[in-house]
Amino acid sequence: MEMGNLKHLREHGPVPTSDLPHEIRAPQRAEGLAVFKLKSGDGRTQSFGGPFRIAYLFDDHEPVEVVRVLFETESHLFGLDRRGLVKLFRGHGRQWSAAASTVLSEESPPNPDRNPGGWEAGETQDCPFCGGDVLKGALPSHLRTCPET
Ligand SMILES: [Zn+2]
Repeated sequence: MEMGNLKHLREHGPVPTSDLPHEIRAPQRAEGLAVFKLKSGDGRTQSFGGPFRIAYLFDDHEPVEVVRVLFETESHLFGLDRRGLVKLFRGHGRQWSAAASTVLSEESPPNPDRNPGGWEAGETQDCPFCGGDVLKGALPSHLRTCPET
């Protein structure tokens, strides 16, 4: 029982603490189980929720793996102001802000050509009624003139 968490982390990599099979006990910490806890921020990052806790193995997992799992679990973090986010991680140590920068830069940089709806310019979708090509985001105005409605 005691070793269940460590085995889980060895097999699955870092996971949110809520996904661990057992409660964390002091002996596991001595065995190298660590928890990265991202605190709630202030100012621009205030509304992101949290705190978030990711369990990992101190000797086996790099900060970047831990941060990647955190972002995958809490994908709304990607929508936050990047500088504010990195600053938030920096409060936990340089290695964490560096890891956060790495994970954020793996995501595609913001595309200035994107319209406010978030679609690529020129991207189309099929009209569900007439099947015609309609620019994404333009479906509501198309439906007013669509021959099938
Ligand atoms: Zn149509």
